[in-house]
Amino acid sequence: RKYVYFFGKGEAEGNGQMRELLGGKGANLAEMTSIGLPVPPGFTITTEVCTEFYRNDRNYPDGLRDEVARNLARVEELMGKKFGDADNPLLVSVRSGARASMPGMMDTVLNLGLNDETVQGVIARSGDERFAWDSYRRFIQMYSNVVLGLDADILEHLLEQMKERRGVTQDTELTADDLKELVDQFKLRVREELGHDFPLDPQQQLWGAIGAVFGSWMNPRAITYRRLHNIPAEWGTAVNVQAMVFGNMGDDCATGVAFTRDPSTGEKVFYGEFLVNAQGEDVVAGIRTPQPINSSGADSDLPSMEEVMPECYAQLVEIKNILEKHYRDMQDIEFTIEKGKLYMLQTRNGKRTARAAVKIAVDMVEEGLISEKEAVMRIEPAQLDQLLHPTLDPKAPREVIAKGLPASPGAACGEVVFTADEAEELGKKGHKVILVRIETSPEDIHGMHAAQGILTARGGMTSHAAVVARGMGKCCVSGCGDIKVDYRQECFVTRDGVTIRKGDLITLDGSTGEVMKGRVPTVEPELTGDFSKLMEWVDRFRRLRVRTNADTPHDSKVARAFGAEGIGLCRTEHMFFEGERIMAVREMILAADLEGRKRALEKILPMQKGDFIGIFREMKGLPVTIRLLDPPLHEFLPQADREIEQLAEEMKVRPDVLRTKVDSLHEFNPMLGHRGCRLAITYPEIYDMQVRAIMEAACELIKNEGFEIVPEIMIPLVGEAKELAILRQSAIRVADEVIAEYGVEVEYLIGTMIELPRAALTADVIAEHADFFSFGTNDLTQTTYGLSRDDAGKFLPFYVEKEIYPNDPFVALDQEGVGQLVKMGCEKGRATRPGIKLGICGEHGGEPSSVIFCHRIGLDYVSCSPFRVPIARLAAAQAAL
Ligand code: ADP
Ligand code: MG
Ligand code: MG
Repeated sequence: RKYVYFFGKGEAEGNGQMRELLGGKGANLAEMTSIGLPVPPGFTITTEVCTEFYRNDRNYPDGLRDEVARNLARVEELMGKKFGDADNPLLVSVRSGARASMPGMMDTVLNLGLNDETVQGVIARSGDERFAWDSYRRFIQMYSNVVLGLDADILEHLLEQMKERRGVTQDTELTADDLKELVDQFKLRVREELGHDFPLDPQQQLWGAIGAVFGSWMNPRAITYRRLHNIPAEWGTAVNVQAMVFGNMGDDCATGVAFTRDPSTGEKVFYGEFLVNAQGEDVVAGIRTPQPINSSGADSDLPSMEEVMPECYAQLVEIKNILEKHYRDMQDIEFTIEKGKLYMLQTRNGKRTARAAVKIAVDMVEEGLISEKEAVMRIEPAQLDQLLHPTLDPKAPREVIAKGLPASPGAACGEVVFTADEAEELGKKGHKVILVRIETSPEDIHGMHAAQGILTARGGMTSHAAVVARGMGKCCVSGCGDIKVDYRQECFVTRDGVTIRKGDLITLDGSTGEVMKGRVPTVEPELTGDFSKLMEWVDRFRRLRVRTNADTPHDSKVARAFGAEGIGLCRTEHMFFEGERIMAVREMILAADLEGRKRALEKILPMQKGDFIGIFREMKGLPVTIRLLDPPLHEFLPQADREIEQLAEEMKVRPDVLRTKVDSLHEFNPMLGHRGCRLAITYPEIYDMQVRAIMEAACELIKNEGFEIVPEIMIPLVGEAKELAILRQSAIRVADEVIAEYGVEVEYLIGTMIELPRAALTADVIAEHADFFSFGTNDLTQTTYGLSRDDAGKFLPFYVEKEIYPNDPFVALDQEGVGQLVKMGCEKGRATRPGIKLGICGEHGGEPSSVIFCHRIGLDYVSCSPFRVPIARLAAAQAAL
């Protein structure tokens, strides 16, 4: 087995396709090398070694050490230097790189190979003492933290003290002697803290670093990230060992990161930041304020790379163009300039906001780089959510108290918190919070997840906070130098002296970088031309139809604007709670006999009819499925004594009579109780009224306004075909009565929900009485798992965390179990009624993996909440491609 892949000088053993084996970084270093870009030579230790390492109790496979030694020798040869040599030492970086990019999750060690002897060699060869000592002190700092596990603050603090003593603020202002002194201090401190010396043997350093990279695969941060992004632990990480190039050798040196297009807006402008005389993560860590790459459009007063290093800039532009053409996607690149010579250190498909994703995909089709199909495949369906949500109302007054960088767009409002743990805690309680940090680090991921938005005082557009927030689609304002964060006092103070304390409300605008006091109102999103163009392609490729769940004319209208092709679920009970209707509903429930119930229902009829007319109007020309009353009746009555007394007075009944009624309706498991079609079997007049309201609404619009409507009447919670047979009969009787009264021709369908396992199991018999099935996967999930959604909160999160369930089955359809029932229901239904219309109306209808499943098993449509309609459309297209 080959464990190590070499790259250098125009040739590489690996290539860009080998992400699984070489990790993303290693595969792309190989690819960039072979297309002739300037990449320092090195080699990649494969992800298989990581897997073996953990399989064998943290031991390396046989032969690995020899292979590493052979490849190191090849690097030495190309560089004309020797690892550990006192005269002419080779220094390397040891870099992790998993299959999927995990920003900042794994740590890199730079300048490895330095010790008291080799540092002299570096001085002699470079003639630059300051640079040599700067590299050495950086190496000890990084290695002590990443490999030896020393708290980073400890050595950082010594560095800060040194700067204070010298009266300087920037690292670059320290002299060679200062840095040399720091190296001694660092070594002493390491011994004090860890009880052993800092390792000076380069081989020991190398294997220590390699071990640390593999070890970091199982650190809690990495595990959390994998869990949040569904990355399996078996994938493992690769390790890249690469010859160092130096951005910290003076003012003709630099390091930077860039995106080939703007990752926020998607605009085709080269976009990035760099720092002169700096190394590695300095740009991302926000140590100094980075300078822009590009003069145009940059939000900075500092001189750009274009101005400061025009030749390197021109070369970088050329490379950026090569990379985009080669990868046919927007790239996120890392580079270093050593003595005016440019080196590429990384490229990968850049993370981007939804807005940018759509713009880039559409632009690239127009540029002829990708096909329409590829464009459709490029967009993560769940990401579209970002585009569909409100932004700040531009006309609303806003009290701007500070301004930072517009790091990740969108608007967010919430209570200020200062730690990730607090954000998570309050988030769990349903609070909306804004996480405010001086800067974020991978330890804060869980808090960033829980927060509505993120505000940092330091760090640029490519800082940790910015990159992670964009990936999460979360609003972020970074590098807000206008605020001073005081963790101890739990507050921040703006330049103008405004103090914001923990718990105060602020609003962020991630598109302008503004920070506002209090809550600023928001407006609905406007979907751009690019979005509609993309959605046109989407609609061309998909087979599965997308309807919406909507109970009101307003929701119907919103959904239609998002492309809904009808209503898959209109829940009539929501209408029962509106205004005075609830009184009529209660009167019906309390009525002593059929006559009383009918009288109450007569009052509800015109109101329901009015609702249906409104909905039919909004959905003109599209199918509408209306579900008849579903919840148990006690939901319409108050439960508390005081409320019961109050209601009794209003309704002029005796409180004890009302109490008795409430008690008699009480159920131990209402979810499995007297609800759905069971209500109609015992009180047929309820559905009769609803069917009448639906049919009268349809007839009126057909007769008076020439509409074409085919109402779809849906009967919930059927578990036995006879239930449906009976209710279908009475629905037909009422519908035909109404049709006769109006004297118009109306078609209508009567179908059922399949939401009990028994219904799926006997779907063939049920289909004899149903024109359509709609799988109610919320209830079907509850009844298949035998768990109540309302009570699952106590254990479900635990099940998901421990991976006992792969996902929350109420979010992503359980394809293995519940999905099998859905599939069986389809097959059995079609067996007896070949043309039967099949759809799904649970929450799952808007969840991408579930939509793909629905496409696969041949459903006709999914139905989801209005805001999820575009997501479902896109997922349906991707399923078809
Ligand atoms: P991450 O995965 O966190 O981006 P990297 O392995 O890319 O970590 O390393 C971070 C930074 O370290 C790089 O962007 C680059 O600036 C610097 N770096 C890594 N390897 C080298 C090298 N061989 N020479 C110079 N700088 C390097
Ligand atoms: Mg990197
Ligand atoms: Mg249901």
